[in-house]
Amino acid sequence: MSRTIFVTTALPYANGSFHIGHIMEYIQADIWVRCMRMAGHTVHFVGADDAHGAPIMLKAESEGITPRALVARYASERPRYLDGFHIQFDHWHSTDTPENTQLSHDIYKNLKAAGLISTRSIEQFYDPVKGMFLADRYIKGECPNCHAKDQYGDACEVCGSVYAPTDLINPYSALTKATPVLKSSEHFFFNLSDPRCVEFLQAWTTGNNRQGHKRLQSEVLAKTREWLGGGANGGEANLADWDISRDAPYFGIEIPDAPGKYFYVWLDAPVGYLASLKAYCAIKGLDFDQLLDPDGQTEQFHFIGKDIVYFHALFWPAMLKFSGRKTPDGLHVHGFITVSGEKMSKSRGTGISPLRYLELGMDPEWLRYYMAAKLNAHVEDVDFNPDDFIARVNSDLVGKYINIASRAANFISKHFDGQLGYQENTQVLLGEIERVASSVRADLEAREYGRAIRQAMAFADSINQAFDAAQPWVLAKGLAQASAAQKDQLQDVCSRALAGFRALTVMLSPVLPTLAANVAQNLFGETAAYQWADAHKLPTSISPFKHLMQRVEPRMLDDLFEAPAEAAPAPTAVPGGQPIAPTIDFKDFAKIDLRIARIVQCETVDGSDKLLRLTLDVGEDRNRQVLSGIKAAYSPADLIGKLTVVVANLAPRKMRFGVSEGMILAASHSDASVDAGIYILEPWEGAQPGMRIS
Ligand SMILES: [Zn+2]
Repeated sequence: MSRTIFVTTALPYANGSFHIGHIMEYIQADIWVRCMRMAGHTVHFVGADDAHGAPIMLKAESEGITPRALVARYASERPRYLDGFHIQFDHWHSTDTPENTQLSHDIYKNLKAAGLISTRSIEQFYDPVKGMFLADRYIKGECPNCHAKDQYGDACEVCGSVYAPTDLINPYSALTKATPVLKSSEHFFFNLSDPRCVEFLQAWTTGNNRQGHKRLQSEVLAKTREWLGGGANGGEANLADWDISRDAPYFGIEIPDAPGKYFYVWLDAPVGYLASLKAYCAIKGLDFDQLLDPDGQTEQFHFIGKDIVYFHALFWPAMLKFSGRKTPDGLHVHGFITVSGEKMSKSRGTGISPLRYLELGMDPEWLRYYMAAKLNAHVEDVDFNPDDFIARVNSDLVGKYINIASRAANFISKHFDGQLGYQENTQVLLGEIERVASSVRADLEAREYGRAIRQAMAFADSINQAFDAAQPWVLAKGLAQASAAQKDQLQDVCSRALAGFRALTVMLSPVLPTLAANVAQNLFGETAAYQWADAHKLPTSISPFKHLMQRVEPRMLDDLFEAPAEAAPAPTAVPGGQPIAPTIDFKDFAKIDLRIARIVQCETVDGSDKLLRLTLDVGEDRNRQVLSGIKAAYSPADLIGKLTVVVANLAPRKMRFGVSEGMILAASHSDASVDAGIYILEPWEGAQPGMRIS
């Protein structure tokens, strides 16, 4: 039966770029979404930036920009990462939107009407200079236990003690260094300790969803029992009411009828899941209310990290339940990512930047494959190990799987004009394919990706072994004089291998979507994206094999790790008169196509005292015309026959004296009033027109 499924990933906080942990979570969710779609289910997969809260407000302030400008800057980078790793969200939104404000207000009003909102006065440290209440992380002081200086307001990083900010000796504001004062203010609370909430959460956390699966993984359930009581250790529920308000100044959503009071960012962040879906529904003409009808059939799953279970297993389902909304069908919780067994650290040079990965030209599907091979349905950390990465990509992905096609396809193209042919017993082959495919599919649906990959690779092994045992290279010798039986046998051996390869491609297509599309289109001549049902068809013909995937070069892994963090050098003044421009990455540089050009003709331009008209040979089948402001420094005769450097992919520019198709490079002082000369670049001897400069 076809299901309708609403899937989200955790909302990234919009005060920084994506790191590799985000990408891992998105890959995990994206594989699952693609797998469900291949079964014919309807999936709505959305994300959003988590845009509110004090850290964003203070960071924006320190940069002298508005919080919205800060959020917009990170939002603008998101597509590079998401597209780069083939992560196909249907919609990406923000919590700083009218949809989210409306939904947060509605949920709050419903909770209030249900009698689950209360107010009380609390005493908190206040920075008299900044004029704001201070969250624990903005208060520092001396540890009351070990007397280490400059420790945070909630815990000591030296001795590990946990305490209240008021326990600190000589507390000060981390924002202004002022001594904070205790001040009281009215706060709003969601009454999580209410018996209705406790009873609901005890049932929700331990129950099954409509698919008959546990809503929570066993590790997550064990954790919630510490808070909710019950379970093997018995025990009472231990839930405190949740403080959901913050005082101005705060970047967030103002609480209705409470001027100067804002929702704490963690109240409106998960509401952002609904806001993103609502915005998507508006674009697609879907009925949002019907889709999330509490009595409807839509399933709702959230992929999150283990650090935010408290918010998603307690606050979020209770907020939804008591505001009369659909509650989640499950949380898909994953662990953290480590590098060679250690926590990632920029300062130790073990950080992995997803953008650098892409800029190095590393195939995004290597990482998708590697992550899949390491992920399972448990809350376990995933270790990125460079040697393991190389081995799995080169030996397994390329060596076992891709290799099947490259070995078998050439025999078929060369001797059988691309036609596949099977002798009797295709039922056995089809049965084997069906067994493996349904098993791989079940593992992917259960998020046991590592097991799915192991099964796929075991199948690849069996295909390779059968191929080797039949020795097709022997069968292909002297084929012109060979018997019809020998020809049939060669065709059969190769066809079976290719049928297995195609079935593997269907199974791996949630993990390797681009490769699968490439194989479908260019090898098997199929146009539509693979569905699970496609695994059980035997292909009948192929096009000539084209290269499908590179192996990893070990040096790429060396380049992948970020150098230990150091302060960026300040721009230095140089004799040219202009400081060095801000750092760009390699991808930016690679956009500029610099070529060697021969100046085949050069002439003055009537009516211009600055320009020369150059005719350039850039190794193309025609010459280009470039206008250049170098007349003051060169006469045409100086230049004819010389080699220089041209920006070959600059958009043609219509100038008063004609169209210029590129730009030649020359050095000069940045201040035009300083007459230090103009110097055209000339390559060393041996360069040829059309050579690329990199
Ligand atoms: Zn201490």
